[in-house]
Amino acid sequence: VWANCLRVIKANIGEQSFRTWFEPIVPVQLHNNVLIIQVPSQFFYEWLEEHYVDVLKKGIYQELGPEGRLEYSIVVDQGNSQNKPRTVNIPTARKAAAPTQAASTAGAIAASALTGSARNVAAAAAAPAANPDMLRNPFEATKAIDRNYVKSQLNNTYSFENYVEGDCNRLARSAGLAVANKPGTTSFNPLMVYGGVGLGKTHLVQAIGNHIKATSPDKFVLYVSAEKFTNQFIESLRNNGVQDFANFYLLVDILILDDVQFLSGKDKTQEMFFHIFNHLHQAGKQIVMTSDRPPRDLNGLEDRLLSRFKWGLTADLQSPDFETRMAIIQNKMEQDGIDIPPQVVEYLAHSVNTNVRELEGVLISLVAQSSLNRREIDLEMAKQALRHIIEEVEAEVNLDFIQKTVAEYFSISLDLLKAKTRKKEVVTARQVAMYFAKEHTSHSLKSIGFHFGGRDHSTVIHSVQTVSDLIDSDKNFRNTIVDLRKKFVKK
Ligand code: ADP
Ligand code: MG
Repeated sequence: VWANCLRVIKANIGEQSFRTWFEPIVPVQLHNNVLIIQVPSQFFYEWLEEHYVDVLKKGIYQELGPEGRLEYSIVVDQGNSQNKPRTVNIPTARKAAAPTQAASTAGAIAASALTGSARNVAAAAAAPAANPDMLRNPFEATKAIDRNYVKSQLNNTYSFENYVEGDCNRLARSAGLAVANKPGTTSFNPLMVYGGVGLGKTHLVQAIGNHIKATSPDKFVLYVSAEKFTNQFIESLRNNGVQDFANFYLLVDILILDDVQFLSGKDKTQEMFFHIFNHLHQAGKQIVMTSDRPPRDLNGLEDRLLSRFKWGLTADLQSPDFETRMAIIQNKMEQDGIDIPPQVVEYLAHSVNTNVRELEGVLISLVAQSSLNRREIDLEMAKQALRHIIEEVEAEVNLDFIQKTVAEYFSISLDLLKAKTRKKEVVTARQVAMYFAKEHTSHSLKSIGFHFGGRDHSTVIHSVQTVSDLIDSDKNFRNTIVDLRKKFVKK
């Protein structure tokens, strides 16, 4: 019967397709007009269902008549064939997806991976509420994976050698080194590194990846930002390639996920990551993550995911102290062949205490200026460069922050603070905010006025003067100012 079916099928499809998709099929049984065929994998089955259901239907119809049915037996993995056939009523391919999903939603990720189980997990993770469409057209997604995912996404400029050690990063760095030397086998799994922007999270985890890649080239190291992970996942949903997305990640030996805070509130993506995490962890694969805040502050991340983070080690990165900043600058100079007089290095290390990225930014702009103006880098130039940068930073952060804080303190809206109104409480709040803007930012009077609803600089002078006078004359007011100032003093 199957041979006759094949003849019908062969007449209807291309030679290549026939060889690829029909020759590997083994007819298993024919009973009561039900033909059971064995296919090599879940993927295979899905592909058939997606692309050849009509031609299969035609063949079965010709051989067995309208009562004829076809069932599949799927080989789950080598040597362990699951001979329990799945019932597939030919015209309704979708029914077949149901048992797959039911099974997977209930079960955990199977260690066998890569065949049916991985797909099941993918389907369950993506849409537990069942969407058999998810199982369609996996082949295209496979091609997309080949194109997009093959590389480790590591940037080899990041290494441990050029990652300067200091009190600010000692624990994280040594844990990272341990993980890099023995991925998956230390108790630092997962390793979670957190810290503010520009403090070296990406550098550190990339260094881990590069180290492993250099010492064990056969290991599949993958660096991916949580943002990219999310986008790939969404893309795979759109292309019905979720199974392949999951399959791909389950192959990884060392998974480095940068900036996990990005997953906040993205429930489906988290669910997918949760399954991948479990699977990899169970298989003794190393997971490394970074976050811009400690796990306890990762609002919008599921508890079950957060609790996994505690299985390993969480280490923070602090702002570098003065000595470390000096060392970082010197390291950078050496690396890039830059020559800067010692007193300038010291001046930079003193002045730029926000983060390492900022520090590098200043260095780069100095080098650029020096080559542009054919002038050696000197203190004067450094001061000039810093003036520009400090103002920029504060224009972004502090003025805004001051306005918000003061408005909140006086229980008025930010809009009102900048509005034209002359109501007493509003005027006072506005004057106080201007006063602090003058005190804590390097904005000019003109710039301050501009940021307060386009007032001119004389208004700002007047405000500052009024506040100073009130501080002297009014004890309660003075307390208010002292209270507020605490919020603006740099830690
Ligand atoms: P994050 O990911 O935390 O925002 P990055 O890893 O991107 O920060 O670091 C910002 C820049 O500072 C990078 O160019 C990085 O190489 C550099 N950097 C950070 N920490 C160090 C360090 N300890 N030693 C040398 N360079 C560092
Ligand atoms: Mg980063």
